[in-house]
Amino acid sequence: MDQILDFFRRLTDTSDWPARWFCGRWSDFHGWLYIVSDLTIWLAYMAIPLILIRFIILKKGIPLPSVFLLFGTFIMLCGATHLLDALMFWWPAYRLAALVKLLTGVVSVATVIALVRYFNEAIGLRTSREFERELLFRQQAVQELSRSNQELQQFAYVASHDLQSPLKTIVNYLTLFESKYGEQLDTDARRMIDTSTAAADRMRTLINDLLDFSRVGSVVEYKPVDLNELVAEILNEHQEDIRLSDATIELGPLPTLMAHRTDLKQVFQNLITNGLKYRRTDVAVRLSIQAVDEGSAHRFVIADNGIGIEPQHYDRIFQIFQRLHGRSTYPGTGIGLATCKKVIDIYGGKIWLDSMPGAGTTFYLTIPKKIKTVQHYAQTDSLHSVSR
Ligand code: ADP
Repeated sequence: MDQILDFFRRLTDTSDWPARWFCGRWSDFHGWLYIVSDLTIWLAYMAIPLILIRFIILKKGIPLPSVFLLFGTFIMLCGATHLLDALMFWWPAYRLAALVKLLTGVVSVATVIALVRYFNEAIGLRTSREFERELLFRQQAVQELSRSNQELQQFAYVASHDLQSPLKTIVNYLTLFESKYGEQLDTDARRMIDTSTAAADRMRTLINDLLDFSRVGSVVEYKPVDLNELVAEILNEHQEDIRLSDATIELGPLPTLMAHRTDLKQVFQNLITNGLKYRRTDVAVRLSIQAVDEGSAHRFVIADNGIGIEPQHYDRIFQIFQRLHGRSTYPGTGIGLATCKKVIDIYGGKIWLDSMPGAGTTFYLTIPKKIKTVQHYAQTDSLHSVSR
């Protein structure tokens, strides 16, 4: 114990030993070879941790930074032992040298333990070549997905577009038939014609909704869209519904987004018309449309005081053709919210709701200020060329 206390008290005391030059017989060449070699090793050992620290600072998010730091400390301490070895030719600080060696020993054992511990994790890390291969693969997958998506969209568009023409013929002929032979038809025959015309009308609405759904996200060239103006246009187009439902609409200031106008119109139109449609018969409709700036995104809140939705249906209503009511109670196709979700998904946002059955529903949606769609990524050729 006394020896230990004495050791630390006289840590830098050099009076017990001669300087290394005077310890044994050194030729100038031998001594300087020793000194210069030690100093060279020390310099190199100092440079390595500095490079590592700079690397960690510049390359944010590198894996296992603590192992890097430990390794850097180990190298730096190794360097310090060589510096002291060189200095001892003039300054025989043997106690200090022993302490630095002890520290180096402890840190080197810790480095070995860390390396063994993180070995498997380090083996699992991908090399830049592996990353490159994966990136290439992902890019190809995105392009493939985007191509098949375009094909599907094209298919849905062509199918719904081509269905319109025979439907128009059916409606026209039914109308013609009724006007030509109406006088001779009995009530039963008229009822059949009315039912067929109503079914054809329903089909037209369905086809139009499907067309809107398939068109969503097809345009990736965005322009500024003033939502104040867009929502005013929607409200204007639904003046009659607003008047009939005696609706009060609270409209907060809305932002301008860089997006595709038709996509955004689909979203706001579906949410607003649902707010007007799914109303309670005993109260006047109150609809609120607000926007909150969340930094990197806008959050929109569209609230109504309508019939509400049971929590178990929150996910289901965003699926295409899913409806909670019969057509006779509330008309509709079950495509509106699926269209909203499709737009918001493509724009990289989120849509969800909160509702109180019998009291009202609030839809929330976020839209990033900088919209980047999958097509944008697929079109990126700045990283690698897929044909490589
Ligand atoms: P549609 O209105 O054509 O049926 P949507 O996809 O717009 O289709 O809506 C799906 C279902 O979600 C609707 O059938 C309705 O039951 C429910 N829903 C949508 N919006 C509201 C709302 N604001 N209040 C109550 N129920 C709603």
